[in-house]
Amino acid sequence: MNLKLESKAIKAAVSQLKFRTQAFIDGRYVNAASGKTYASINPATGKPLTEIAACEAADVDAAVKAARRSFEQGVWAKRPPAERKQVLLRFADLIEENLGELALLDCLDAGKPITDCLTMDLPDSVHCFRWHAEAIDKEYDRVAPTGPANVAMIIREPLGVIGAILPWNFPFQMGAWKLGPILATGNSVVVKPARQTSLSLLRLAEIAAEAGIPDGVLNVVPGGGSVIGAALCKHPDVDAVAFTGSTEVGRQLLHYSAESNLKRVVLELGGKNPQVVFDDAGDLDYIARQALNCVFWNMGENCSSGSRLIVHRKLKAKLLARMIEFSREWIVGSPLDPATKIGPMIEESHLNKVLGYIESGKKEGAKLILGGQRALLKTGGYFVEPTIFDGVKPGMTIAREEIFGPVLSVLTFNTEEEAIALANDTQYGLTASLYSENVSRANRVARAIRAGTVSVNCFSEGDATTPFGGYKQSGFFGRDKSIFAHHQYCELKTIWMQLT
Ligand code: NDP
Repeated sequence: MNLKLESKAIKAAVSQLKFRTQAFIDGRYVNAASGKTYASINPATGKPLTEIAACEAADVDAAVKAARRSFEQGVWAKRPPAERKQVLLRFADLIEENLGELALLDCLDAGKPITDCLTMDLPDSVHCFRWHAEAIDKEYDRVAPTGPANVAMIIREPLGVIGAILPWNFPFQMGAWKLGPILATGNSVVVKPARQTSLSLLRLAEIAAEAGIPDGVLNVVPGGGSVIGAALCKHPDVDAVAFTGSTEVGRQLLHYSAESNLKRVVLELGGKNPQVVFDDAGDLDYIARQALNCVFWNMGENCSSGSRLIVHRKLKAKLLARMIEFSREWIVGSPLDPATKIGPMIEESHLNKVLGYIESGKKEGAKLILGGQRALLKTGGYFVEPTIFDGVKPGMTIAREEIFGPVLSVLTFNTEEEAIALANDTQYGLTASLYSENVSRANRVARAIRAGTVSVNCFSEGDATTPFGGYKQSGFFGRDKSIFAHHQYCELKTIWMQLT
């Protein structure tokens, strides 16, 4: 579906949408073995979109069996790399052909603004699949520097069956970030999308089959995390689990691994990311817009959200004045409206959690200077205004906990040492941004901040060529994107040959 960013076209496309609501196991859609379903809610209206198969442990087991069989038969893992590349390139082409439909599914299911889905999430996902496909026949294994009587080959082999557990904030894109390298390296996979946002991944499974990915290689099982997520993580025949989500559940996954078969666990977790603005920073209008984008993009439901603005005392008043002015550009509205930049929170309980943090900010003495209320109540959706607190102290709850909503905490500093200490004053270490015209300072501070990605004079998560993942409690060996993501889904084997 080719979708124009224009209200009439979007409305017409919504009326034609069909939902895939069954699990996709061994190349076909099937009901949950129990026959149970659950309602998928549109967060912009609070009304059900459709009923989805509520899978349980038996369905996970069927999917793992299909994945194991496909892996052992070598229908994907043993295919020549150049052939695997062609199939994945075709997969990317087909995703691109269906980009409008997939964008709409994420928009309805997750409440993400359609403009973001169409211009960012889906194009990035297509590029992600293409990048990993292209890498397949470009990376070489190694030969160790032994003496002449031996040849020692160090080769990478696929791990086997991978469980991929996805979050709801970037439903399709996180799928692409996991599936690109998992499939490129020849593994078979069972995906559990987030309970709230399964529709685009369920549709993707069919597209994968059309592209030529063999039956059993890619399975999608929808349902609750504590049931099927846990079943997947405890399954003795799963070789690794790749996860993006909360630090709390990530920690639980390590227990599951320890209690079952010591499967590899790669985790991409939460963040409480700093944006540091020095007094020698450049154009304040530009920085104000970058800073707003860093915290309000994707409703702040983003692990890389820059939810702590750490600004030099001298610049604070000027910068905040501009940010308040430009915050008008952050229109809260229906995700289907091309002008909308902030859609609803994912669900009512999450809305209440975000509003609870706003209350705690007020109670603990921070100064509310923007927003702070629930919005668009009549829609039935879970909207909240973009919110800024000034005068935040490092010990306050809103300075320490991941809010996962459009809420910014502003802190101040006087010296570079103080700025670095504040930036690092968190259990997390996913991303950071810093603004300074002094290149030596920028380099010094970028190296001093303990985070997986530090962007200088911009807000960025890098691109397909750069790894993305966290220090400290933002991750556990997990790196999405780039060739480093391939390595985490492979075993390293030494073949030592004695020659005569
Ligand atoms: P969770 O970590 O609970 O969910 C992420 C995924 O893990 C979902 O697919 C979920 O299933 C699944 N899951 C939940 N419990 C288990 C379990 N016991 N075993 C295996 N899998 C499980 O995040 P939430 O969606 O509940 O969000 C809570 C908070 O987590 C947010 O407010 C935010 O702070 C953080 N978060 C961080 C993300 C990131 O990008 N790093 C992404 C999402 C959330 P189910 O669909 O049933 O929930």
